[in-house]
Amino acid sequence: MPSSASPLVLTFEAARHLVEEHARDLRPAGRELLSLLDAADRVLAEPIHADRDIPPFPRATRDGYAVRAADVQNVPAQLEVVGEIKAGSALDAVPPLQPAQAIAIMTGAAVPVAADAVLMIEYTSRSEDRIVVARSVAVGENVVPAGAEGRRGDLLLSPGTRLDYAAIALAASVGRSHVVVHAKAEVAVLSTGDEIVDVDVPPGPNQIRNSNSYSLAAQVHAAGGEPVILPIAPDEPERLRELLAEAFDCDLVLISGGVSMGKYDLVEQELATLNAEFFFTGAQIQPGKPIVFGRVPCGAGALARESGPLKHKYFLGLPGNPVSTMVTFELFAKPLVQALAGMLPQPLAFVHARLKKSVQTKTGLKRFLPAHLSGEFEDAEVEQVSWQGSGDIAAVVRSNCFMVIPPDRERTEAGEWVTVLLR
Ligand code: AMP
Ligand code: MG
Repeated sequence: MPSSASPLVLTFEAARHLVEEHARDLRPAGRELLSLLDAADRVLAEPIHADRDIPPFPRATRDGYAVRAADVQNVPAQLEVVGEIKAGSALDAVPPLQPAQAIAIMTGAAVPVAADAVLMIEYTSRSEDRIVVARSVAVGENVVPAGAEGRRGDLLLSPGTRLDYAAIALAASVGRSHVVVHAKAEVAVLSTGDEIVDVDVPPGPNQIRNSNSYSLAAQVHAAGGEPVILPIAPDEPERLRELLAEAFDCDLVLISGGVSMGKYDLVEQELATLNAEFFFTGAQIQPGKPIVFGRVPCGAGALARESGPLKHKYFLGLPGNPVSTMVTFELFAKPLVQALAGMLPQPLAFVHARLKKSVQTKTGLKRFLPAHLSGEFEDAEVEQVSWQGSGDIAAVVRSNCFMVIPPDRERTEAGEWVTVLLR
């Protein structure tokens, strides 16, 4: 176990794997029953099964005629129309289908038992109760068989699924007006720095407004956690220690600033007084190199009031430069917040796009550069947005992704395929 005095700087991949490994041990704290609408974006805490076959009857997917495919093998063919079924109609309203007969049918209606296909209306012409059929149809065409999308009792949604609009629709389709979701984990957000003042305080000429607590809170929210913003900690050991102890009342602690090599970067030192175990104290990335990941034991010393079932609580010390804070949250904090929210592990969403303008980088660190993904339809192009470095919040606002440049690349040419991390 490295102490704060022996830096352990990992590659991006090793650092991410380590976080993912620890995230696997994290569990959400509780559950609650919510109405389906309130459950949007929450994480399911129960399995949801099909209450009947889906579809419950063979479903017509086109407007047209329910027929026996054999009757229209040779076209043109003539059929007699003996009835009509619209969506929602009962099948006993139509006579049983005999050879050379057809039943008019609408999309979403149940296909009669003796029919084995639906002819699209476009391929027929009708006069009175007869149709002339211009095209043959294969058995099963334009019909979804009963149970084809799911059988009664099938598992449709697993615990750990984030309830996006499709999952909400699936829950609604099986009659779930209420669902059990995981309680949200509390994530402490502690910004540090003597120069930092809160947004509603007029800053002095050398002061900087606290933006990290706000970006982090928004990121915690988006990842499925409940942010708890603590007062700004000065670069002073006692008050910092006090606020850290308070922060560890939460399920996870995110600290911004104070993790670089400066004389007043006290975060690691103060975490060490809480018997912190450090898994890494840096990653070979830019922005975000001085990222710190570790955990403190619960139920002892300053954390005595925090009991509960957890043996450890995790923390991330995120570098204070705003872009570094944002990037390191996405790369390292998100899996921990998601795990505490009860979500199944989510991979980072990398895609590839053609580089629009060549990029020059120094070697040694993997870059996550604010970039803009654009292009017409499938021709995705990406371009670095101009930026003044890790403090340039507006550059991230102008971007819609991060361009990933491997640590060994000095120059990446226009037209090359590059990796893009979506955000
Ligand atoms: P640090 O990681 O503490 O060395 O901070 C690096 C730089 O990030 C500082 O000089 C500040 O300009 C900026 N910074 C640190 N904390 C915050 C914050 N909470 N909000 C906005 N900027 C910050
Ligand atoms: Mg600082």
